[in-house]
Amino acid sequence: MKLSQYYLPTLREVPADAEIASHKLMLRAAMIRRSASGVYTYLPLGLKVIQKVEKVVREEMNRAGAMEILMSAIQPKEIWESSGRWDVYGPEMFRLKDRNDREFCLGPTAEEYFTTLVKGEVKSYKQLPMNLYQIQTKYRDEKRPRFGINRAREFSMKDAYSFDVNEEAMMDSYMNMYRAYERIFDRLCIDYRVCQGDAGAMGGNSSHEFIALAETGEGVIVYTDSGSYAATDEKAEVYYSYPETQEPKEKEKVHTPGTKTIEEVSEFLGIEKARCAKAIDMSVEGEPVYAFIPGDRELNLTKLVSYLGIPEHEIVMMDDEMIRNSGTVPGFTGPIGLDARIIVDESLTKISNLVVGANEEDHHIINANYGRDFEGEIAPDLLMVEEGDKTEEGEELQFARGIEVGNIFQLGKKYSESLDAKFLDENGKEQHFWMGSYGVGITRSVSAIIDQNFDDNGIIWPVAIAPFEAIVTVVNSKKEEQEALGEEIYKKLLDAGIDVLLDDRKERAGVKFNDRDLIGIPYRISVGKNAGENLVEYSTRKEGVNEEISVEEALEKVIENIKKERTSL
Ligand code: ATP
Ligand code: MG
Repeated sequence: MKLSQYYLPTLREVPADAEIASHKLMLRAAMIRRSASGVYTYLPLGLKVIQKVEKVVREEMNRAGAMEILMSAIQPKEIWESSGRWDVYGPEMFRLKDRNDREFCLGPTAEEYFTTLVKGEVKSYKQLPMNLYQIQTKYRDEKRPRFGINRAREFSMKDAYSFDVNEEAMMDSYMNMYRAYERIFDRLCIDYRVCQGDAGAMGGNSSHEFIALAETGEGVIVYTDSGSYAATDEKAEVYYSYPETQEPKEKEKVHTPGTKTIEEVSEFLGIEKARCAKAIDMSVEGEPVYAFIPGDRELNLTKLVSYLGIPEHEIVMMDDEMIRNSGTVPGFTGPIGLDARIIVDESLTKISNLVVGANEEDHHIINANYGRDFEGEIAPDLLMVEEGDKTEEGEELQFARGIEVGNIFQLGKKYSESLDAKFLDENGKEQHFWMGSYGVGITRSVSAIIDQNFDDNGIIWPVAIAPFEAIVTVVNSKKEEQEALGEEIYKKLLDAGIDVLLDDRKERAGVKFNDRDLIGIPYRISVGKNAGENLVEYSTRKEGVNEEISVEEALEKVIENIKKERTSL
């Protein structure tokens, strides 16, 4: 491709609304343009990278025995109602009606759709295992679209669904995908960790998240240096370190004027925060529900959602007025004498002499003890992991930021049962499929790769997914000699099967070099004033190698290095 004819409107200025490197660089390198919040157009350079990522994903999925299909982005409401997810998905789902008032959604994912497809068509155990996938645009009306294509409302995802005869076979399919994902993200040159995930709205049993490490990542992962444990902070189990045990004392109501927060009441009474029960006043599906955790910890909403088994958008934190109407007092909620659903984090049942709200303005109760003074549903772990926490074995936990690029789930029979998708087993008996689902964020992977590979001057592509593997720059296009040699080198590289770009624009050398750095092409040859002596400048974007060598040597180095760094099958 010749740059003089290529649509590459690079930007010199950093766009004001872009917060993270990948977003800024994708705009500046003319890979994307925003058309609405979280909705993007892919320009030639951006689309080319996406296609390279897709190629890796396709090759690995095919190699793992999965078959590519393509379903519509428009999905009928009925299948989502059958699984119960029409409501669960809530406002994140784009919904639409046709001219006859029939309701649809723009698919945010496709468990129901694939299950419906297979239902009735895959009839026998002999056809299993089966794994179908697609690479398709997905739609999610994200609460906070941000960071460019990282959290978009329209994005490309590879989604796969496996169908098996029993749990064991499902586990095999799952592990097969686990390994395919390792190969995919290795080939995409992403630095990632595999974490135990949260099944969330997907339902089902176990899941793993593939998290690309990035300082600007929206998520936090928790891991041990030995590699014995890695989980997202949403899922990480908390081994709470208890305050000192005390003999239970006589419960007593005390005057605690103006002490609405844990800090205030702890300081006022001179009792450690861990012993002051923190109340979370919620309205769940319209009913008041109160959860209590130790005062020195934060609530993990994901764990609470999972405990309650309801969609997150059904939980509303009560405001002061709602709290008053529910029969208690903001800042003074306590589990004693509260006539409502009460959920107690298990740790609280083991802490003696708690301070709890008295459900009365400016009053708390001290020396409250679980079992003797109050009761509730015991939730095993509602706490957010925090710095200083250790694993069950006492190993120190480390924290890092990252962004999820892939996700694998064991779904079990959740969707096959709700959509009644069955096959005939060896004994001619009807059975529901055991399923798994597997996602890769195609577009998000592109931004993750950039966030791991850039410097002040621009993107530093790994060869595997670089939009072009090499670039030939004609330093001074007015000089025929340079132009001719540039063209000759360009053709030789094309003949050698290199994906190469020729910068033959009538631009100043500085502009060309800046663009070359910005778009991050890994291997470069520039043809300048010594063209007549058969000398060119060979340089690399990543290592910063820069040497003047003969044309032949330069060609050899470029071709050899690129072939070495391609991560093909
Ligand atoms: P997140 O926690 O980041 O919202 P998710 O758990 O909702 O992700 P999945 O439903 O597992 O994501 O989707 C599969 C993959 O699709 C994710 O691993 C991610 O790479 C990608 N993805 C999800 N939401 C978006 C989005 N809004 N923009 C771009 N990619 C996305
Ligand atoms: Mg999401």
